Amino acid sequence: MANEIGKVVIVGGGIIGCSIAYHLTEMGIPCTLVERVSIACAASGHAGGFLARNWSDHGPTGPLSRESFDLHKKYGAMFDSDYRAVDTLEVMVKEDSKRTKSSPNVPDWVDKSVIGHTDVLGDLTNTAQVHPKKLSKCFIEAAQKKGCEVIIDQVVGVEFSTEDKTFIKAVKLQNKGTLPCDKLVLAMGPWTNVANQWFGHKLPTIGACRAHHIVITPSEPVSAHALFVNYRSKDGNDNPEVYPRPDGTVYICGRTDYEPLPEHAGLVEPNSESLNFLHRVGANISSTLEGSKLETGHACYLPLPENNVPAIGLIPNYHGKLYIAAGHSCWGILNAPATGKNLAELIVHGNSAIDLSPFDPAKFI
Ligand SMILES: Cc1cc2nc3c(=O)[nH]c(=O)nc-3n(C[C@H](O)[C@H](O)[C@H](O)COP(=O)(O)OP(=O)(O)OC[C@H]3O[C@@H](n4cnc5c(N)ncnc54)[C@H](O)[C@@H]3O)c2cc1C
Repeated sequence: MANEIGKVVIVGGGIIGCSIAYHLTEMGIPCTLVERVSIACAASGHAGGFLARNWSDHGPTGPLSRESFDLHKKYGAMFDSDYRAVDTLEVMVKEDSKRTKSSPNVPDWVDKSVIGHTDVLGDLTNTAQVHPKKLSKCFIEAAQKKGCEVIIDQVVGVEFSTEDKTFIKAVKLQNKGTLPCDKLVLAMGPWTNVANQWFGHKLPTIGACRAHHIVITPSEPVSAHALFVNYRSKDGNDNPEVYPRPDGTVYICGRTDYEPLPEHAGLVEPNSESLNFLHRVGANISSTLEGSKLETGHACYLPLPENNVPAIGLIPNYHGKLYIAAGHSCWGILNAPATGKNLAELIVHGNSAIDLSPFDPAKFI
């Protein structure tokens, strides 16, 4: 089978590219993954890693999310990726206000400024979390053991046959020459549209939105409750998310803006005011989080698809050689396992267990 498929090259070492590499090698198909900066250097290394089984049930990604959630559970048992089931709550918080609401749902450490309703959004059967960078690395290390080569370089173009300008023969690398290629997979997250110039026409449009996060270490561990916060302050309303992690740290993300996407992930800069805000969120929710040690604070870019669904599948008019998996927005960690599995099936067998037609790139070109 590997001989029939030929050489598969994946561009992008975020969680989507790593998952595709993992699932291809599990099917006995060796591949090469080219990553410009480092594995999971962008959103896939900075995301929260929250997973919900059925929150997309009424939309086109429903089946993908369900399969992915179940695969995460399986991979959580196989890999050292900090997977665990969590309870999930929505809480309403008003900055600097006195606590006016107590609720049996709220864990002990959420002891400040909670003023409004508290809803249960999920429980240990249908919400979970994973460490996105660890899982990306687990995927790629497992793939490397089964024949995936990883090249750190920038893909800068594509070489076509001289007779047919749609017949892909190789990718051009910035530093390491050309890499022969029979099937090419674009998994470049918010940088996907840089590839428009390689093909001389428009690929599915993937926008970019900057979001911030901090990781803090509280003085004592807090329970496995993911919080979706309806946060009111004098500056307006916000919706930060708070995820305690199994390693004793707490991840808090939020504050999105449309600062232009830099040329590569190594050039992403956070806005310090946004990081300060996230620190304030922790301090306003919990006296345990107040005064926590700041471990890290950074920004990264969500890959935003034009039509609210990711583009996953074959790009037409390239002799069955060009694929894309990009635009997973705020659910790329959740949907990475099923995206990788089903795209690998499509590449190898020409069809996949899950119907990928809602994500057909041809619809978005
Ligand atoms: C703050 C924040 C929190 C999030 N939390 C969650 C969450 O809790 N749950 C969830 O499911 N999702 C979450 N997400 C969304 C998730 O992080 C993304 O959907 C996912 O990481 C996208 O993965 P990707 O592989 O498509 O893109 P990326 O992670 O952006 O990876 C793309 C890779 O391609 C590489 N690349 C680009 N161009 C080239 C080139 N020319 N040559 C070689 N390499 C190239 C880049 O260097 C990069 O490493 C969050 C996102 C943000 C911003």
